[in-house]
Amino acid sequence: MLGLMQNWPLTVDKILDHAKAWHGDREIVSRSVEGPIVRSSYAAAHERAKRLSNALKGLGVQTGDRIATLAWNTGRHLEAWYAIMGMGAVCHTLNPRLFAEQLCYIINHAEDRIIFTDLTFVPILAENAPNLPTVKHYVVMTDREGMKGVNLPGALCFEDLVESGSPDFEWGGFDENTASSLCYTSGTTGNPKGVLYSHRSNFLHTLVTLGVDVMGLSATDTVLPVVPMFHANAWGLAFSCAAAGCKLVMPGAKLDGPSVHELLESEGVTFSAAVPTVWLGLLQHLRATNGKLSTLKRVVIGGSAVPEAIVRGFRDEFGVDVTHAWGMTEMSPMGSLSAPTARVAAMGAEDQLRYKLKQGRPPLGVEMKLEDDANKRLPHDGTTFGRLLVRGPAVAGGYFKGDGGQILDDEGFFDTGDVATIDEQGYMQITDRAKDVIKSGGEWISTIEIENIAVGHEKAANAAVIGAYHPKWDERPLLLVQLKPGEQATKDEFLAFLEGKIAKWWTPDDVVFVDDIPLGATGKIDKKLIRDRMKDYVLPTARTPVGA
Ligand code: ADP
Repeated sequence: MLGLMQNWPLTVDKILDHAKAWHGDREIVSRSVEGPIVRSSYAAAHERAKRLSNALKGLGVQTGDRIATLAWNTGRHLEAWYAIMGMGAVCHTLNPRLFAEQLCYIINHAEDRIIFTDLTFVPILAENAPNLPTVKHYVVMTDREGMKGVNLPGALCFEDLVESGSPDFEWGGFDENTASSLCYTSGTTGNPKGVLYSHRSNFLHTLVTLGVDVMGLSATDTVLPVVPMFHANAWGLAFSCAAAGCKLVMPGAKLDGPSVHELLESEGVTFSAAVPTVWLGLLQHLRATNGKLSTLKRVVIGGSAVPEAIVRGFRDEFGVDVTHAWGMTEMSPMGSLSAPTARVAAMGAEDQLRYKLKQGRPPLGVEMKLEDDANKRLPHDGTTFGRLLVRGPAVAGGYFKGDGGQILDDEGFFDTGDVATIDEQGYMQITDRAKDVIKSGGEWISTIEIENIAVGHEKAANAAVIGAYHPKWDERPLLLVQLKPGEQATKDEFLAFLEGKIAKWWTPDDVVFVDDIPLGATGKIDKKLIRDRMKDYVLPTARTPVGA
């Protein structure tokens, strides 16, 4: 017997409809790419997005067409998202931090018809346009004044398009399983692969993220999404902020400590979300300038593991609560958060911190399992490492155009490529990406854990651990440290700092000081590049003794 409730397709256009109807005057503030701070509202964004849908229709855009954006977080970018998705086209977010060659591959693979671009990226598109045969139009997200310096033949002006379209446009009206957006994984292994979200998956993910133990957003919040809209859906914030009616503060192209701090203070931001490196930059800036955080209450940090020093810094120096989150593009992206259970909440602050540093527990809608290499389920004892697999309505079932083949196991679970433990309280902890974990004498060593302790050393700006070849143990840990400007340190200082904080046999065999720890396109330490740079390096413990 079927239920008798209304069939109300879960399409994301309804999120902006809701924001317009019930939070219409709530502000959307952007640091524009041109420079000035620009103020708009959900009502204005709704009207402009509808006008833009009409303009896109005029350009021949049809349901299912891929329309790309190469842009920072701004109000215009938000309008483009809703205009594209609302009309049933697919919004394809491009990550400008990728190399031009990878961008071209992705654009051609997706067969993008139109690219919306910020002024910042006009030169790279102009240079590569001859290699992008499917792209019929470029829309520069600026006004007529901004178009003056644009050197991209045939480029259209965003504000002209908005002005030209009628505000009457019927959004939605299609199946909730219709594709809404497309985001490629950064391809640290092999070619990038497209994750194709549906309206339904994005809508359900929005409802999930609104939960108090997830993002917990309220109409009284002012949210600064530092996490870019081109990185895993901005962790859903472009939807959830509109759904909750939060004031939205878009940081544009400036994500450095001073610029983020300025907006946090001038706009009264209460909630923000970003990868750890952004927060490291902000904390360093605050300390150097004796800065304050007068309104910020909560930050969600994910994308890579949160070092203890960040959580303590926010808590002890600024009274800001950190929620550690884990997820991935394939999961829309939220997979787990470190919100306290009743039992953890009853613990003292230091014990709570141990759980806060883990990647946390899955919200409703995410199922998790740990397995060994023979697909046998592993215990949730907090120490047994295994492959982490997930299942849910906002988890990818396959990649665009069938790349990567069948990606689910017999039970419909997706292998995250991460290695993790789950403890008795249900807190999952990522020990590594499967390809980064160090296998030493048949046992596994977590590079993330060592890095996070090392980066807490007062002289360290950043740290990375990789496995280096060892004739007896196969691999042993090698710690690379980038010191803060002007600092000097010895290997023994760092080894002494790690002592007692990690198992003795996890102690790195060597410490090498480097000028920089390279970060990849999504802000994570680029271990592939580090391994490449260190390919001729030999551990002192692996060198043949003279005369042997
Ligand atoms: P990409 O794979 O394209 O670099 P994603 O954002 O999809 O970008 O990356 C997802 C991966 O990032 C996860 O599989 C995991 O390895 C890592 N990750 C995300 N959040 C965390 C976290 N809190 N701690 C450790 N690793 C994380």
